[in-house]
Amino acid sequence: MMRLNARPLNVLWLQSGGCGGCTMSLLCADTPDLFGELAGMGINLLWHPSLSEPSGRDVREILDACLRGELTLDVLCLEGAVMCGPGGTGRYHLFAGTGRPMRDWVRDLAEVADYTVAVGSCSAYGGISAAGHAPGEMPGLQYESDLVGGLLGADFRSKAGLPVINLAGCPTHPEWVTETLMAVAMGLLDEDALDEWRRPRFYADHLVHHGCARNEYYEFKASAEKPSDLGCMMEHLGCKGTQAHADCNIRPWNGQGSCLRGGYACISCTEPGFQDPGHGFLSTPKVGGIPVGLPTDMPKAWFVALAALSKSATPERLRRNAVADHQVVRPKNRKTGLK
Ligand code: SF4
Ligand code: SF4
Repeated sequence: MMRLNARPLNVLWLQSGGCGGCTMSLLCADTPDLFGELAGMGINLLWHPSLSEPSGRDVREILDACLRGELTLDVLCLEGAVMCGPGGTGRYHLFAGTGRPMRDWVRDLAEVADYTVAVGSCSAYGGISAAGHAPGEMPGLQYESDLVGGLLGADFRSKAGLPVINLAGCPTHPEWVTETLMAVAMGLLDEDALDEWRRPRFYADHLVHHGCARNEYYEFKASAEKPSDLGCMMEHLGCKGTQAHADCNIRPWNGQGSCLRGGYACISCTEPGFQDPGHGFLSTPKVGGIPVGLPTDMPKAWFVALAALSKSATPERLRRNAVADHQVVRPKNRKTGLK
């Protein structure tokens, strides 16, 4: 239902165990005036640790006013995993000037917020911050890798009746943030709008593979052998674009960038647990020469048969360009009868 509220949407953005990259990404939103755009969408940024002026006592007053209900907290955003260490005390990260663990502030504020949004894979599932032994004891808001629970627990529902909205990605795309906030502001975000991992479906119902500029190489299994090559990176360089849910290549960063376009294989950063793949990010695990991570909705036997057929029919142009860092064979020009 459309939210018919003249009041701007109050958004509070906190950070914990992350690198700040999701904020950096937000600053790269495809607009010369991010704050003007937010205001135009009816979004009022109550406070952000690196984008807002207030600090110290002024921030404390904002937080307390939210908890007391004097200030309506529409959306609580958390960037970064929740630092719960050492020994479950949360004291690895005290909210400066308050003496309280950030973990406790987040838990309390999530109770009064209409919506709680995990900005980035760290906040959603633990992400890179939870990789390996994770001495910081860092769950996501409602997941720990692919196990539901996290800081807020499996049963958590915000005041609007939704679980934590996971804007998974490392970093998350700026438009995934602004589009989500806009959907909330318009009252258009309900549980049906989220996928199984509670990512907004407007971006998670796509695969990174969709729109990748290397699709022609993929079709003919013309594979890159080193990172600078133009070919498809699935066979040798660990690309998981056929399995990772996101629209990165349909909606590139700054209108033109994506990992694949920059020559880096997709490491499926929008998926829970991507940080611990069990192999090098730039290598493709294989059994009997066949990649283990095949497209999820394609029977393995079909893939093997089609790959063999494709390889036998690879045009020379693709075969040679696939292992070069620039086009060495250009598409032929000939009379096609198309004009
Ligand atoms: S999700 Fe990635 S970019 Fe965002 S805070 Fe975590 S490590 Fe940084
Ligand atoms: S490089 Fe990855 S995303 Fe691009 S076509 Fe190959 S498998 Fe798909």
